Amino acid sequence: MNRARFALRRERLPEPAAYYRDQGLTLSGRGEWRSARCPFHDDRHPSLRVDLARGAFRCMACGAHGGDVLAFHQQRHGLRFIEAAMELGAWQATPPRR
Ligand SMILES: [Zn+2]
Repeated sequence: MNRARFALRRERLPEPAAYYRDQGLTLSGRGEWRSARCPFHDDRHPSLRVDLARGAFRCMACGAHGGDVLAFHQQRHGLRFIEAAMELGAWQATPPRR
């Protein structure tokens, strides 16, 4: 029996800069790593560092961190991996193998 196979399609994750803007973060600074006010604690000045190339993030104050926008989306919204991937449009049927 053939069943649809679903998996994370990492290439469909949103582009980090656009994603973080959509999440209400104001990114400041220049270069690959930008700063923003951390949404995981009551941040009065930008403690969160965001890597625009991979989407990785790390807060220098509260320690929140992750390797991509999917990890951010899970933590920010309390979602499981698959739920977050679905919301971001990256949980897709895998194409058949040739
Ligand atoms: Zn923080």
